[in-house]
Amino acid sequence: ILTLEHIKKSYDSLEVLKDISLTVSKGEVVVIVGPSGCGKSTLLRCINGLEAIQSGKISLKGEVISGRQKDMHLVRQKVGMVFQSYELFPHMNILDNITLGPIKAQRRSKGEAEEEARKLLERVGLLDKMNAFPRQLSGGQKQRVAIVRALCMHPEVMLFDEVTAALDPEMVREVLDVMLELAREGSTMLIVTHEMQFARAIADRVIFLDKGEIVEDSTPAEFFENPRTERARKFLNVFE
Ligand code: ATP
Ligand code: MG
Repeated sequence: ILTLEHIKKSYDSLEVLKDISLTVSKGEVVVIVGPSGCGKSTLLRCINGLEAIQSGKISLKGEVISGRQKDMHLVRQKVGMVFQSYELFPHMNILDNITLGPIKAQRRSKGEAEEEARKLLERVGLLDKMNAFPRQLSGGQKQRVAIVRALCMHPEVMLFDEVTAALDPEMVREVLDVMLELAREGSTMLIVTHEMQFARAIADRVIFLDKGEIVEDSTPAEFFENPRTERARKFLNVFE
């Protein structure tokens, strides 16, 4: 469903993504791990068009989505992204935060968008917070709202960039559980995380990125039990 071919990305003279090729199938859950600064966030940001790439090609369902700065908003409807810092609109209540995109960008009716938003909120256990404002929610609750907001656009692919990194430990679980459920339902997901146990539990495939290159692309069992490269072994040692 998603194909990256020979992606290169630099910031001035700094080469951040060197030659990334990657294919993600429909329903596949791909976890990306790697040391700080290796280019994980940059990779996700290139996929949803927040960053332009210097060369290579990104396609979604056979359609090229890279290098199309003019209709980037269309790409972002198809590629949902959730960040480390939940970027909810502080002056809008939870329901409006979720339905803004569907109503404005997708021209869906308010009634229909709100009905779907309520269903999704109920699934993540937050229906009672529908009229609250972001500042009245805990970090874990805000992050679940951010996930619901992305889902409400019916994206083809969901990208998650360290969505639990800013959370207190007791709130991590509730967010990871929502992601596990999405994975079970067959969502196509690319997940950047430092939670190695979670990575192992949710991944169909693990990609180890180091210095802007894909160093390993394997099954979770293979990667965590028997990494092929010295670089991956060193990286995993830190978590033991
Ligand atoms: P972390 O695990 O710490 O989040 P990461 O793998 O997500 O790291 P990136 O954020 O993708 O790493 O950054 C990759 C490299 O690109 C880093 O060296 C970083 O300093 C650099 N970089 C990222 N964004 C920019 C930017 N807007 N301008 C210049 N350099 C940048
Ligand atoms: Mg990052």
